[in-house]
Amino acid sequence: MDMNKIRADFPILSREVYGKPLVYLDNGATVQKPKCMVDAMADEYFTVNANVHRGVHYLSQQATELHEAARMTVCNHINAASINEVIFTKGTTESINLVAFSFGEAFLSQGDEVIISEMEHHSNIVPWQLLAERKGIVLKVVPITDSGELCMDSYKEMLSSKTKLVSITHVSNVLGTVNPVKDIIKAAHDLDIPVLLDGAQSVPHMKVDVQDLDVDFYVFSAHKAYGPTGLGVLYGKEKWLDRMPPYQGGGEMIKSVSFEKTTFNELPFKFEAGTPDFVGTTGFAAALDYMNAIGMHEIEAHERELTIYAMNQLAQVEDIRFFGVAENKTSVISFLVGDIHHFDMGTLLDRLGIAVRTGHHCAQPLMNRLGIEGTVRASFGMYNTKEEVDILVKGIDRVKSMF
Ligand code: PMP
Repeated sequence: MDMNKIRADFPILSREVYGKPLVYLDNGATVQKPKCMVDAMADEYFTVNANVHRGVHYLSQQATELHEAARMTVCNHINAASINEVIFTKGTTESINLVAFSFGEAFLSQGDEVIISEMEHHSNIVPWQLLAERKGIVLKVVPITDSGELCMDSYKEMLSSKTKLVSITHVSNVLGTVNPVKDIIKAAHDLDIPVLLDGAQSVPHMKVDVQDLDVDFYVFSAHKAYGPTGLGVLYGKEKWLDRMPPYQGGGEMIKSVSFEKTTFNELPFKFEAGTPDFVGTTGFAAALDYMNAIGMHEIEAHERELTIYAMNQLAQVEDIRFFGVAENKTSVISFLVGDIHHFDMGTLLDRLGIAVRTGHHCAQPLMNRLGIEGTVRASFGMYNTKEEVDILVKGIDRVKSMF
C-alpha cells in the first residue's frame, strides 16, 4: 500500500489541531473520508439531483440509475446473491431495529429466545430488550473469557429448540476480537436457527462474503466504511425478508394504496419507506470502489500488522492494562494506564493532537463484565501508520509523567 498516496486522498489528515499534526485514532467511531467519495456526492448534487424512482424526467431517471447502481456495488462488495437482499437504512442501528421489529413480528412469540453476547454494542442489545418487553421473548447472553473471546462452549449449550435467532457482532468495537463467525453460524444452522451478524466493525477492515458465511442477516454503517453519515445496509436472505412485514409505512414501500387496502412493494423497496438517501448511496459506492481499488486483503493485512505493532509498542508502557487480547484481533485496542482516568488520558492526548475515544463505547454491559467504567480506545483505519502509533506511545508516556 502506498501510504503517502492514500493519506493524500484524505484531506483532513493534513490538518493540525492545537498546532500539532492530527493523529486520528478514533476510526471505530467513524472514519475520515476520501476526497473521491465527497466528490461523487457533490457531483450528483450539482449535476443530477432529482428524487428517485417516481419521476419520468431525465434527471430523476439518471438519479435512479445511480442509486440502483450503488445498490449493485454494495451487492457485489458483500457478494449478496441478489440486489433484493440489499436494503438501505440509516445505519447499523436502524438495520438491527428493523430486524428486531419485523423478524420479531413474523417469527417470535412469548418464551422464544434470542442469543446475543456480552461484547455487544448497545445497538445489538436494546432493540432486543424492547422486543422482549413487547413480545415476552427471552434474551440469552453468551459470556466472554478474560482475554475477550466468546465462550463457544457456553454458546453451543445455549442453542436449543427455543432459540429463534442468534445476533452477534463480527468484530468487537471495544476488544477488537474477531469472532469465529463461521463456527457460530454452523452451530446455529445445525438447528435451523438464523444468524444476524453486526458488521459495523468488520466491513471497513476485511473482505466480507455473505454467501460464503451463509449468514442470514448482515448489518453495517456506511460512515465507518469511508462512506457518508446517515446511511447503512441491511443484508438479509430473501427467504427471510420475503416473509417479514414492512418496518415503516410511507412512500416507496407500497404498490398501491387505498383507504380500504394497501399492498406492499417488492424487495428491497418493501423496507425502504420514504425518499432514500440517494446521494449518500452514490457516495458509499464511490467509497467501496475506492476500498476495492486498494484491495480489501491489503487493507486487512496492513491493519492487522499495525495492530500487532501497536500492541507490542504499547505493552512497553509501564502499568498498561489491555482489554481484549484475543488471538484473532484487529484494528481496535482498549487500555488503561495505572490509575489515570480514561477521560483524563483522552483529554491530555487530545492536546497533543491525538484523537482517541474514551468511555464505555456504548457497551456498558461489557464494561460491567470487565469491572471498569471505561477504557481509552485507539482504533485504526487504512491510512494509519506505525509513526502514528509511535506518537501515541510517546503521548501516553508524556501524560503519565504529568501524574
Ligand atoms: N455495532 C457496533 C459493533 C458498532 O461499533 C457501532 C458503532 N459504534 C454500532 C453497532 C452502531 O453503529 P451506528 O451508530 O452507525 O448505527
